[in-house]
Amino acid sequence: MSRIRVQCSREALLNNWELLRVSGRPLMPVIKADAYGHGLHFVGNELARAGAQHLAVGTVSEAVELRNSGFGGMIVALLGLITAEDLGAARRHRITPLIHNEQSLDCIANFPLHARDLPLSVALKCDTGMARLGFLPEDMRDVVGRLRNMPNVLPELLVSHLAVADEVPNERDNKAGAGNELAEDFTLEQVRRFQQAARVVRTAFPHILLSLGNSACLLASPELAGDLGRPGVALYGGNPLFGTSRAILGAALEPVMEVSAPILSVHALRAGESLGYGRSYVAATDRRVAWVGIGYADGYRRNPAPETCMTVRGQRVPLIGRVAMQMTCVDISDLPQDVDIQPGEFAAILGGEGHAVTPHELAAWWGTIPYEVMCLLGGLNRYQDAAPACFS
Ligand SMILES: *Cc1c(COP(=O)(O)O)cnc(C)c1O
Repeated sequence: MSRIRVQCSREALLNNWELLRVSGRPLMPVIKADAYGHGLHFVGNELARAGAQHLAVGTVSEAVELRNSGFGGMIVALLGLITAEDLGAARRHRITPLIHNEQSLDCIANFPLHARDLPLSVALKCDTGMARLGFLPEDMRDVVGRLRNMPNVLPELLVSHLAVADEVPNERDNKAGAGNELAEDFTLEQVRRFQQAARVVRTAFPHILLSLGNSACLLASPELAGDLGRPGVALYGGNPLFGTSRAILGAALEPVMEVSAPILSVHALRAGESLGYGRSYVAATDRRVAWVGIGYADGYRRNPAPETCMTVRGQRVPLIGRVAMQMTCVDISDLPQDVDIQPGEFAAILGGEGHAVTPHELAAWWGTIPYEVMCLLGGLNRYQDAAPACFS
């Protein structure tokens, strides 16, 4: 049994999946980076059983791992062809790589083909404003011209990615600030450029599916998402509209990940006594403290905001002193008198019963976004060489 427990709720995952599906449009869940820390196999298998026919990962190796787990549908590798082995692996395992620049076009054009091979399925990436990966819409005519001369390549998807969909208030009369209105205009311009690219590509490949919307778009403006939505963070219970005027649209999403660590030591700290490295905490009154077995080596932030809490038996307990490499201290004095906390009991870092810490809270305390919280804490599974436990 590992020291730190990362557990994922099947029920929460399926709840979020159903919420995102209400618009009726097909979805390609994004399960890159070990499904944002939730486990590639756990999430992939559950969503496949729940009806997902397309899945997106980052690298071709992730895609092959997913294929080997038995998923028969389309698997898109969103980072494209990176290593020399990627194209061969994509062919052998029926992976759909992203084709996003001249080099990747050259790569598939020069690949030796055998008459009996199935065509290589590819996803074309169009850069509509992220300035990250993709062909510009105005270059799409040339790209399509080259692809027409590759009979063994089948472009099945046209993909683009939105930069500010999580800042969209798409009601004209919304009283959002100027920044938000700019964001909305930027998204609409991205949509316009995507449609421009789609018109060109469809002249040659009329059956190509369009895929634009991320989680924020699917919640706020599903009509802009294209034929195949690509939700990521919302599946894991992160609300991309959190803190905006449209946060309510993601309010029913449920966090999937729970992280807890064992209490190692419980003791009194008398008024005037200090604790931990640097003696940064000095007790003003008599306190009762508990050292929890998680620290910065485990991905827990060393310098979280002063209001950072864990929960013990569902109640909030504040962090005190400095976070150490594998240990962190909490003040448990305010738990009810009759609650007898003993070493071996678990403290919850994220999620759990009672007044659970949410991914958004922990992200705010850490000065980051829920995506990073999930990836860091979920990464403990790999670090501990343990598959995520799951429960429903
Ligand atoms: C990560 C990613 C997504 C999912 O984004 P969320 O904000 O997590 O919904 C979709 N598309 C691409 C290309 C991505 O890299």
